[in-house]
Formats: sequence, structure tokens, C-alpha cells
Amino acid sequence: MWGNIAIAFLIAFIVSFMATPYTIKIAEKVGAVDIPKDKRRMHHRAMPKFGGPAVILGFLVSVIYLLIIMSIENSIDLFSSEDYITKLIGIFLGIIVIAITGIIDDIKTIKPLTKLAGQLLAAIIVVSFGVRIEHISVPFITETLKIDSSIISSLLTIIWIVAVTNAINLTDGLDGLSSGITLISCISLLIIFALNASPLIAIILITALIGALLGFLPFNFAPAKTFIGDTGANFLGFMLAIISILGIAKTYTAVVIVLPVIVLGLPIMDVVLAIIRRIIKGKSIKAVFQADKGHLHHKLVAKGFTQRQAVFILYGISAACGMFAIILFDSGIWKALSFLLMFIAALALGYKNFEKDKSFYKDAKHECMVCKYIYNPKVGNKKAGIEPGTSFDDLPKNWVCPVCGEGKDMFEIQE
Ligand code: FE
Repeated sequence: MWGNIAIAFLIAFIVSFMATPYTIKIAEKVGAVDIPKDKRRMHHRAMPKFGGPAVILGFLVSVIYLLIIMSIENSIDLFSSEDYITKLIGIFLGIIVIAITGIIDDIKTIKPLTKLAGQLLAAIIVVSFGVRIEHISVPFITETLKIDSSIISSLLTIIWIVAVTNAINLTDGLDGLSSGITLISCISLLIIFALNASPLIAIILITALIGALLGFLPFNFAPAKTFIGDTGANFLGFMLAIISILGIAKTYTAVVIVLPVIVLGLPIMDVVLAIIRRIIKGKSIKAVFQADKGHLHHKLVAKGFTQRQAVFILYGISAACGMFAIILFDSGIWKALSFLLMFIAALALGYKNFEKDKSFYKDAKHECMVCKYIYNPKVGNKKAGIEPGTSFDDLPKNWVCPVCGEGKDMFEIQE
């Protein structure tokens, strides 16, 4: 079985790695390009944002290949009592709806409510083809509850899918962030599924997703050559939500049922905070759809971290959520809590060192990650009115690279 899964991983990786450069060319032709218009965008140059189709292609080719091979080998029975074939058809149809909505959004930009309608439709399709949350629990408080009403179970599933889809979509603000966080969440889920002896179908889907993401990430990491775009971010969230449901479908342990929520803790927390923040600020439900610059990744960059550092910090937090879930599953709540405590201590220590580092490198040269322009404090930047002797930290916040126009967060210390 694991041999086949390794092949699925490789196929997804190769297809997505080979397809991504083409999506960059197509993006420029069809106008799926992010042109910086407002201050919320972190980028200052036009960026293709059509990586999604490459990731979807890698995923689908790999999954379809593997399902055919495994059916021939008789190592998976798609027509069993679980009726995976129906669920898979529903998932493929849902992906088509998500992809079409995303592609239109990437090329033309559609209204948030229209986008939500597309996500809802995709979720309803998947649910009507039999993918449903059947058990819920609040660990340590309630036992596992079976949801008897199919209406409640359908509603709950639709809410879960739409919520996770949007949560991943909202982390799509820095180079490599949404794809990397999804990748880390997938790896955590894969370990949990393997320990839990979860259904094979969930393991196949998640492996294909990991492969497709790894093939795309080299093009997406700072400084990015392409964005994953709405097509990709929506697809990633959509698949994470569904794979989580499939992976724990046969489990009745109260703790295991909430593990996906913990693994996806970072994006879920960010979306919950965003909703609360926007309602308080806008004083209306409509305000929820107004994008703002209050996300965790924005806050980190505002604190003076470079984009690459901010992304790594959030990767770390995401990995910690995953490890917490794995330890909770494997060794229980006390070991998980002590891990959490150590992680928070390490984080606090790291932050203290970061503040120290900053003053140490005060007079260091800084290099633009995009165009390799070097800011030298001894020379300054005469055209922008920056006197010689101005350290990089003291440059005004809105100062941009004189060569390519990127912001300060795209600069790294040159040692
Ligand atoms: Fe530059």
C-alpha cells in the first residue's frame, strides 16, 4: 500500500512542478495578475496568481491514476459499503465548482457574496453525495455524540467546509503562506491518519495534496514567482475540510474527532478573530466581507519582521498545532499540555532574541530579495531624501526599494 502511495506523491509533485511555469505564462495572457492597488497588498509589482490550476492538476492526475491502479490490484474497493465511488464523484464535482468560481475570481474579481455562493454550492454538492460529519464531541466534557438527524449533519458539514475554505483563503497574504500552512496541516493529518488506521481513501487524497503542494512551493516561496490565487487557496481549504471528514469518519473517540480542528487551529483562529474584529469595527454583519490589514501575518510584518521571517513564524505555530494534536492523540492531554508550555517558552525566548538582534544589526546593509539592490546605511538613498547614516530600521515605513518598488519587508540583512 505505501509503495502505491509513494508513487501518488511523486506523480502529484512532478505534474504540479512541471505545470506551474505554464500557469505563469497563461496568467499573463488571461490577466490573472495581481496588480498592487491598495495598501493591503504586500506586493508592489504585478504578480501572476494562477498557481491553483497547477496544484489541482497535479492532485487530480495523481488521485485518478492511483484509484485506477489500486482498483485493478484489488487493494481498494470503491464500491464497498462505504460507497467511496459516490463520495469521490461528489468531491470531483465540488472541485469543478470551486475551480470555476476561483478562476473567474482570479481573472475578473467577483463579489465576496458571489464567491460565498460558489463555496456553498460546492459544499452542498459534496454533502449530497454522502460526505458528512456524523459524530461530534467536546473532549473531556461530552462523550462522542452521533448526529441522528441528517439535516443537522448536512448543515454542520456545509458550515465546516465553507469555514475551512475561507480560513485558508484568508491566510493567502504572504509568499508561500497559505500553501505552506496547508502543507504542514496535511503532514500532521497524515501522521494522525496513519496512527489512527484511518480509511485508505483519506490517506490517498492527502498524499496527493502534499505532493502537489511541494511541487508548487518552490515557485511560491519568497520572493514568489507566482501566487496560488483564489482558485488554489479555495481548493486547498476545500480539500482540507473534506479530507478531515473522511479521515476520522470511522472514529468514535471523542479526542480524535476534534484533532482536525486543532491541526487547523491557526487559520481557524485567524478567521474567527477577523470576523469579530470586522464586526466590531464595521458595526454590521456586512463588514465581515471587508478585507483589512489586521491578520496575524500583517501584524508580524508591522512588528518589523521580514516577509520570510513572518512566514516561518507562522509555519512554526502551525507545526506546533499539528504536533500538539499528534501528542494529544498518542500520549494524552498532560504530555500535550507540557509540550504546549515548552513551545510558548521557546517562542517568548525567540522574540526576546529577535529584539536584541535587531539592534545588533542596526548598521548592517540590507538586500532586496527581489532585485538584489543593496541598501547601505553609509550611503543612504539620496533620491528618496534619505540622508547618509540612516540605519535600515530608521527608514520611513513607506520607503520602497528604489529599483523594484518592493516594501521594507522584502529586505534581508546582508551579512
Ligand atoms: Fe528591489
